[in-house]
Amino acid sequence: MSDERSHPDVRAAVTRLCANFPDEYWREKDSLKAYPGEFVQALTDAGYLSVLIPEEYDGAGMDLATACAVLEEIQHSGANGAACHAQMYIMGSLLRHGNEAQKQKYLPGIASGALRLQAFGVTEPSSGTDTTRIKTRAHRDGDHYVVSGQKVFISRVEHSDLLLLLVRTTPRDEVDKPTQGMSVLLVDLREAVGNGLTVRPLETMLNHATTELFFDQLRVPVENLIGEEGKGFSYILDGMNAERILIASECIGDARWFIDRASSYAREREVFGAPIGKNQGIQFPIAGSHIQTEAAALMVEKACRMFDTGVACGSEANMAKLLAADASWAAADMCLQTHGGYGFTVEYDVERKFRETRLYQVAPISTNLILSNIATHVLGLPKSF
Ligand SMILES: Cc1cc2nc3c(=O)[nH]c(=O)nc-3n(C[C@H](O)[C@H](O)[C@H](O)COP(=O)(O)OP(=O)(O)OC[C@H]3O[C@@H](n4cnc5c(N)ncnc54)[C@H](O)[C@@H]3O)c2cc1C
Repeated sequence: MSDERSHPDVRAAVTRLCANFPDEYWREKDSLKAYPGEFVQALTDAGYLSVLIPEEYDGAGMDLATACAVLEEIQHSGANGAACHAQMYIMGSLLRHGNEAQKQKYLPGIASGALRLQAFGVTEPSSGTDTTRIKTRAHRDGDHYVVSGQKVFISRVEHSDLLLLLVRTTPRDEVDKPTQGMSVLLVDLREAVGNGLTVRPLETMLNHATTELFFDQLRVPVENLIGEEGKGFSYILDGMNAERILIASECIGDARWFIDRASSYAREREVFGAPIGKNQGIQFPIAGSHIQTEAAALMVEKACRMFDTGVACGSEANMAKLLAADASWAAADMCLQTHGGYGFTVEYDVERKFRETRLYQVAPISTNLILSNIATHVLGLPKSF
């Protein structure tokens, strides 16, 4: 199986790196709700977080397939790449839509890890998935934008130097289409926190360093506008395919971890005088999960190949994300069931990974919204909203 997967050298090297961060490391971080800074630093030092940054800006200049291999193997090892996966892809908006001065100023630092751009502010309490109704507003005042509003579930802000922020610059009722009139600002968190930006940690069922953000007349230099004012929504959409394919790869890695752990437990655990894995009631769900995961992985590979060859892949990225998230969630449930009571104990790590992989049914896009997109955009069914 593994010999058929792409990038075997990258996969082997990532697996070796992750071996320095065993289950105990993740268990402790999870119980303390602590950021896995040592792990993130090791990935940074090895250059894995800069794979998508072109060489001219000191990155590794690799394709999305390489980044997918890195993230899949991180998850497959039992680690949690969500601590830093966004460092790989948020910079894509800057790379594609920023001006040359912005790229020169920020990308080499992001590539080396001296600058962390791993926070991305879109979601708001009152708009939810309906992004065009965001209320965080920025108006021009001389050579600054002045930002007021609120965001929720914005992850890794406390471990980031920069935040890519979506704001409304023209009210929704003053534009032809709701998707117009939004803009993307690069906020320097080192200056903003305490000077118009308040960050409040938000406790969740997993160790994800997510926060609520409160903007009160935060001043952001106009030179930090990415691309053109009013076109920010299209820039955000533009980055979503890469994000979805990368997260789908993480789900494939999670699913493979659950299948590995369930298989080895089922081989070893003896009840009624025989390994539980001898029972088809145990082995069939494991086999079913494996089949579901391999099928999902094919769609992830397809979406990734299309992305890397410049073919429009919005639907495939969405389908890959949904199939992979479903495969990892089904594998999580199967793995917990295979472990019986021990699946609920912290020392087996199944419950931690179970909580972690559950996120991908909801974020960064929920399953219903993907189904709706495929129904209307691919199958031509009428829109429900
Ligand atoms: C741990 C965590 C980390 C996150 N990190 C970030 C981050 O870094 N940056 C960021 O911007 N956001 C982040 N998010 C937010 C995440 O992207 C949103 O939670 C997600 O997009 C769903 O939005 P919502 O929670 O407002 O749900 P809602 O939009 O309120 O939806 C609630 C439920 O209703 C369903 N629903 C809504 N409308 C429809 C419809 N028309 N038809 C059918 N079903 C519908 C949804 O699918 C969902 O299941 C994070 C969330 C979590 C939990």
